[in-house]
Amino acid sequence: MSPQPRRDRIVALDKRHVWHPYTPMQQYIAETDPLVIERAEGVYLYDVDGRCYLDANASWWTSSLGHRHPRLVAALKRQADEMCHVALAGIAHEPASELAEALVRVVPAGLTHVFYSDDGSTAVEVAMKLALQYWAQNGRPARQRFVSLEGAFHGETLGVTALGGVEVFRRPFAGVLLDCVHVPSPGDAVAYEQAFDALAKVVREGADEIAAVVLEPLVQGAAGMRIYPAEYLRLVRQLCDAHDVFFIADEVFTGYGRTGRMWACDHAGVSPDLLCTAKGFSGGMLPMAATLATERIFQGFLGAPERAFYYGHSFCGNPLGAAVAREVLRIYEDEKIVEQVQPKAEIIRRAFEEMAGLPGVARTRSLGMIGALDLEGDAGYLAGAGWRVYAAAREMGVYLRPLGNVVYVAPGLVIGEKELQELLDAVAQGVKQASEAGSP
Ligand code: PMP
Repeated sequence: MSPQPRRDRIVALDKRHVWHPYTPMQQYIAETDPLVIERAEGVYLYDVDGRCYLDANASWWTSSLGHRHPRLVAALKRQADEMCHVALAGIAHEPASELAEALVRVVPAGLTHVFYSDDGSTAVEVAMKLALQYWAQNGRPARQRFVSLEGAFHGETLGVTALGGVEVFRRPFAGVLLDCVHVPSPGDAVAYEQAFDALAKVVREGADEIAAVVLEPLVQGAAGMRIYPAEYLRLVRQLCDAHDVFFIADEVFTGYGRTGRMWACDHAGVSPDLLCTAKGFSGGMLPMAATLATERIFQGFLGAPERAFYYGHSFCGNPLGAAVAREVLRIYEDEKIVEQVQPKAEIIRRAFEEMAGLPGVARTRSLGMIGALDLEGDAGYLAGAGWRVYAAAREMGVYLRPLGNVVYVAPGLVIGEKELQELLDAVAQGVKQASEAGSP
C-alpha cells in the first residue's frame, strides 16, 4: 500500500472512532492534521510518510531512556517468553520481587515497601488511600483531608482530581471531589517562604483533620513547568514531622533523573512517607507504577484481616512491566544515566536563558532536563499561543506539545548533545516565527 492512502485510512478511522485525551474533539476532527507515527526509536518518532521528528517531551515524559532501548526490548521479549501476566494476590514472582528490592535500594532512605499499580494516577490514588486507611485504623480517624498546591497535577482518577489545582481539569467534577485544601504554589511570583507560611498555617490549624500534604517535588509539571526551590521541600518535611502529618511525594514526572538527580526529593535530602513513581519507571514501555511506603505505614496495616489494604488492579505487578522496570534500573546504573544529565542540563539552561531575550517571551526557567518559557499574552492551559510554536516546530521536524502559553522541552535523558542543540534551536526558531506571524 502506498504511504498516502495508508495515512488517509488511519486518520479517517481515527477521526471516526478514537476519542483523544486532552483534545477538544470538534476542533480536532475539523481542523487537525495529526502526526501519524509508525515507529519510535531513540529520541525520534517516524511517521508513515517517512518523516522524522525529535520527541521533545519523551512522549508525555515517559521514555527517559529513549524509545525502544535495545536492552528494554530484550528484557520484554525474555519475559514474554516465560510469563506475560499472573495475578499478584498471594503469588510471588521473580520480576516483582527483584524490582521491589532494587527500587528500595535507589529511593530516598526509609521507604521499604512497594505497592504496584498501573500508572501515575493510580500510584497517587494508592498513596491517598494508604494515608486515609492508615489514620482510620491507627487512632486518627478524623484525618481525612489532603493539602496540595494551587496548580497541582496528580493524575486523572476522581481521587487524585481532588488534589489537582488546574482549574479547567477540575471544573466539571468540582461538586463531587474529596475535601482538599489548596495552598499557594511556591513556584509562583510569591516568595517560597510566603507560600510555605500559608501551608504551615493550614497544617498547624488543621492537623487533626489532615491526612497528608501531597506535592510534585520541585517542579509542578502540568501547571506549566513551575519550578520552586528545594528549601521548600525541607520546610515541608519539618512541618509534617512536627505535626505528624504524612508527606506524599509524587515523583511521577520528576523521578528517574528528570531534574538532574535520581529523585527531586534528593535535591533537598528529604524522604517522604509515601513516594509515587511511574512514567520513566518502566522506561516508557509499559503502563506500570509503584507507591513506596515507610515501615511505619506498612506496620499500620498488620494485625486483624480487616486492617489489610483491600486494593489491587488486575495488572498489579505485571511481570512484563516489572521485568522492564528492573532492566531500567540496571541501565541507569550501568550507563550512569543521571550523571550523564549534567552537561545536557547546562546546555538547556543556557539556551533557555538566551531565549528570554526573544520577542514575545515573558520569562524562562530550567532544571535538569526541563526547560520552559512562558509566551506573553493569555496564560493557562487553554491559551492558544503555544500551539503556534508547535506548528512551526513541527515543520522543522520537532514534536513538542505546549501547555497553553508554556512551551517546554523534557526530552529523553539519553538525547545526544547534537540532537539537543537541534531541538533547542528549533524551539527558539519556532518562537521567533510564531512571534513574527502575529503576536504569540
Ligand atoms: N502525577 C504527575 C506529577 C504527573 O505529571 C502525571 C501525568 N502527567 C500523573 C501523576 C498521572 O500519571 P498517568 O498519566 O500515568 O496516570
